[in-house]
Amino acid sequence: MRGAVIHAPGDVRFEELDDPRIVQPTDAIIRTVVTCVCGSDLWPYRGAEPVGEPHPMGHEYVGVVEEVGAEVTSVRPGQFVIGSFATSDNTCENCRNGYQSNCVRREFMSTCQAEYVRIPNAQGTLVATPEHPAEELLPSLLTLSDVMGTGWYAARAAEVRPGSTALVVGDGAVGLCGVIAARELGAERIIAMSRHEPRQKLALEFGATDLVTERGDEGIARVKELTRGVGVDSALECVGTPEAMRQAVRATRPGGNVGFVGVPHDVTIDGQELFFSHVGLRGGPAPVRDYLPDLIQRVLDGRIDPGKVFDFTLPLDQVAEGYKAMDERRAIKTLLRP
Ligand SMILES: [Zn+2]
Repeated sequence: MRGAVIHAPGDVRFEELDDPRIVQPTDAIIRTVVTCVCGSDLWPYRGAEPVGEPHPMGHEYVGVVEEVGAEVTSVRPGQFVIGSFATSDNTCENCRNGYQSNCVRREFMSTCQAEYVRIPNAQGTLVATPEHPAEELLPSLLTLSDVMGTGWYAARAAEVRPGSTALVVGDGAVGLCGVIAARELGAERIIAMSRHEPRQKLALEFGATDLVTERGDEGIARVKELTRGVGVDSALECVGTPEAMRQAVRATRPGGNVGFVGVPHDVTIDGQELFFSHVGLRGGPAPVRDYLPDLIQRVLDGRIDPGKVFDFTLPLDQVAEGYKAMDERRAIKTLLRP
């Protein structure tokens, strides 16, 4: 089979790779139906994370089960399945507490921009849809593997409640999905920070009520102005930079909460500032598995359409161009079709 391999920053190639096979009795092999490039794939692509040895890429997937190991009974060959970017047995104590992304058997997916993928912990990780979904639903179902589930977790971690005011920092796919999540969880006012017109439009379409184009201290001041000088109840930090975290914490009211889901890069938290701010913090890799049944149903019912974050589609063999387009911000998110 063939798949994407990163060799160095800016150098992603589509190459012949070994076919994945069942290694553990808890594995499954899926044939990829659609996959994509994630904003977090840009960290190594931009050299902000070391690449090391050439290695496969991709952690988002939907597919059809080809083969299952002896211990996998929850899905069977031929079924259409979705799974999280972090695999889980869905039975350990962390899983039962709703933190499947911290499962004691967790393995992060990392080979999904390929024609076939091995899924460890398949029993607890994969969720089958009732039938093969219609073609037009594939992009939205694919977002549930990561970005929509991550936006959902950001809103839950920030404790978005009916009638509340939410701020979304970051206008990438996760931030835009965070707008959907805040709306679905009942936020009355959703302030999106974005200065990029196509992303602003999508944020408004997804339910944002206000846009803030300023950044840094000006951005914080503008959010305060919009909230009677108090700050928001909930802030969804969907970037992972020091500036984004500072904006989220400082724009949140005393007693409010920040959900942070951007993978932190050089982010430090000032203990004194946090202490006196009375702001609550919760973040981490999203327990996407916990939300999959609910989010799949919302997509199948036509209630949410997060697949609109894909504004660029390519055949999988042109994956390198998919990275380039996102790196240059010509695309929000690239969908790849094997
Ligand atoms: Zn577990």
